Amino acid sequence: MNTKNYSLAFRRYRFVHITCYVVLFLSFGLCTIFPMTTMPGYVPILVGLLGIAALLWSAIGWIRILRNLERLSENLGKGQPGLSIARDSSPASILAKQCTETMRNSQGKIEESTERQNDISLKFQLVQKQKHSIEQIIHTIRDAVVVVDSFDRIVLANSAAEQVFRFSAQTAPSRPISEVINHHEFVAMMSHIRQSKLPHLKHELTIEKEDEKHIYDCILSCIRDEQQEISGVVAVLHDITREKEVSQMKNDFVSHVSHELKTPLASINAYAEMLVDGEAQDEEAIRQFCTVIQSQAQRLNRLIEDILNISRIESGLIKVDKQNLSMALLVRDAVEMITSYAQEKNITVHNPPAILYDQVYADKDMISQVIINLLSNAVKYTRQGGSISIDSQVNEADGIIRISVTDTGVGIPPEAVDHVFDKFYRVEENKKVAKGTGLGLNLVKQIVEKVHGGRVFVSSEVGKGSTFGFEIPMAAGQPVTTKA
Ligand code: ADP
Repeated sequence: MNTKNYSLAFRRYRFVHITCYVVLFLSFGLCTIFPMTTMPGYVPILVGLLGIAALLWSAIGWIRILRNLERLSENLGKGQPGLSIARDSSPASILAKQCTETMRNSQGKIEESTERQNDISLKFQLVQKQKHSIEQIIHTIRDAVVVVDSFDRIVLANSAAEQVFRFSAQTAPSRPISEVINHHEFVAMMSHIRQSKLPHLKHELTIEKEDEKHIYDCILSCIRDEQQEISGVVAVLHDITREKEVSQMKNDFVSHVSHELKTPLASINAYAEMLVDGEAQDEEAIRQFCTVIQSQAQRLNRLIEDILNISRIESGLIKVDKQNLSMALLVRDAVEMITSYAQEKNITVHNPPAILYDQVYADKDMISQVIINLLSNAVKYTRQGGSISIDSQVNEADGIIRISVTDTGVGIPPEAVDHVFDKFYRVEENKKVAKGTGLGLNLVKQIVEKVHGGRVFVSSEVGKGSTFGFEIPMAAGQPVTTKA
């Protein structure tokens, strides 16, 4: 039933009751004026009865309306106005219908707004989640990130920034950057880019961290809002200390290599020129000059070989051919190779007794090179009549084999011991004892540690001798392969 029908029903009620009162009023009026008329005596009785009937009709109507309204109010209290809907179109029934409809409408609206609220709360949760994950990403970035607003107050700083500038990222937000970060240059750069409105700024910063100077590649960028106004600045600091060191090392390496190559080349050049100029008078002199050229060419070759081998191992480009090998056999072969060299200097070489099981999973050529380098150094830096002993120990518990070469040579000063495995390092005091490139021990270290996962060691005493050696894992459990 629509509003028009409701008002029609009410109008009908109003009409009925007004009619009752009109009838009552008329009957009352007729009864009053009756004595003055000549109407027969039953007329007033009929009129009076009609008036009483109208009164009763109206009263009963009112009582019914009130009773229905009472029931409606009870049902409304229960939230079920629909129970008061009757077939007739009494006011209570009409009201009940209207209440039910209104309730239904409001229910619909409530459901709609609840749905909208749920939607908003879902979106809010999503935004919160996204914010959280963005913050997590920023916090897990290894580079330091600092964000400030247009008033140079910290908005966000990640854990890396906390470590670089040593502050607490939890208490930093909303505080001026100059209060939080104690690095004048960085703070000045942050406000400079904001004021100058540059989109980006790149700068190298040196920051002291744990008593060490670190170099950072610092990139600053302006953050702009929808109106393209600068709303803040973000700074990302990337630690390039290691890259700088590597680049420095590369430069040093190149200058070392060129220096080392120059010496034998200059010698070859000089002797070749003398030969060309006919400065060698006799055959003996010519042979002497050629021998020098040959030995310098060999030195040059050794140097280039060593450099190439080291760089191949360092870059991981070297072809490694590992197989199960007996360390005792490798040592025996190496000793054989240097025997004549040792005999020239009257040096005695003591070989270790063979060990029952000394299998290693290793590259034969590389490990032979390691043993030969250690043995030839021992001979090189031991004076006439000295002695060299080779020791081999197996640590079954750790699955490691340990080879050491001990000589009675010139020894190494304590301050130089830690550097002997460095590239191109030559002990100053021993330079006169023997010629060399300073690359042999570095190659040993690279082969043992990088290729075979072992370690090198050294101990030495000036005037008494040195012990150089290495440890590598034994072959247990390794697949057996054979060289093609
Ligand atoms: P080099 O070609 O100069 O021998 P190495 O890398 O083999 O280069 O050795 C580095 C330096 O370590 C040598 O210059 C030498 O001074 C020192 N050294 C190496 N082995 C011994 C040793 N057995 N006794 C004394 N000094 C040694």
